[in-house]
Amino acid sequence: MKWCWILLAALALAGCSEKSHGPSIADRPIRVVTTTGMIADAAQNVGAGRVDVQPLMGPGTDPHLYKATAGDVRTLDGADIILYNGLELEGRMAEIFDAMRSKRAVVAVAANLHEQDLIALTASKKDPHVWFDVQLWKQVVESIRDALIGLDPDHSEKYNENTRQYLSKLDELDAWAKREFESIPRDQRVLVTAHDAFGYLGKRYGIEVLAIQGVSTATEASAADIRRLADVLSTRKIKALFVESSVPQSTIEALQQAVKSRGWNIELGGELFSDAMGAPGTDEGTYIGMFRHNVRTIVEALR
Ligand SMILES: [Zn+2]
Repeated sequence: MKWCWILLAALALAGCSEKSHGPSIADRPIRVVTTTGMIADAAQNVGAGRVDVQPLMGPGTDPHLYKATAGDVRTLDGADIILYNGLELEGRMAEIFDAMRSKRAVVAVAANLHEQDLIALTASKKDPHVWFDVQLWKQVVESIRDALIGLDPDHSEKYNENTRQYLSKLDELDAWAKREFESIPRDQRVLVTAHDAFGYLGKRYGIEVLAIQGVSTATEASAADIRRLADVLSTRKIKALFVESSVPQSTIEALQQAVKSRGWNIELGGELFSDAMGAPGTDEGTYIGMFRHNVRTIVEALR
């Protein structure tokens, strides 16, 4: 037992001396590890020129169900700062974030949003999909800026300038999305998806949102859920359903069949990015690009 403590103390000392002799953080890129691609893209924009950003969750990955791999643990352990969404989006990663906290900043970027801006699911649970309200996402971008400045204050002017530029692009995106959604006839402004990821989009842009599953994909849709929704869609003659890139298509196809069997021909309106972005290097691999893709896909199917 005694030897064990001596060994631990020696390891701690070795860690300290390595840190004090290595290059200061201001002289090298900041290693940022994020969970989702959306957070990685925000960190990349805020930290352009200063950061090396690595998201754990690639295209098509469902964050509700995601578990860290052994490789992820090594990646997280090499980070100067870890950024995750919070609000229980990454429902199976809480323990690993706690374990990482002793050695570096671990920041839940959506945790400081004002309570009145969040969609309440129960008394204690909030909808985590905050990236679908561009105005809320701007606040997340600001909290990433603050976290990077806290770590690397020597470059605060760079982070501030990058953020100013990016926020003005997000304002343009927000205004464009509002105009586009207003072009859909009022009685067709209904977005039907497999899981309830688009509540903030609906709230911000005046779209009614209906989903088969709740805000998490952790519980499966029941046949009763599908029947209930099929009744609503066939009665209201809603034109289209949407597939999500991070959720299997089978649930939404079952709903389409159920609506057809009620005598109303509902179309598949195309694929939306809900909880993951498109491939890196493509337009949809950026937050702005994936948001624009979603708006265009919804508007084209419902207009
Ligand atoms: Zn989700």
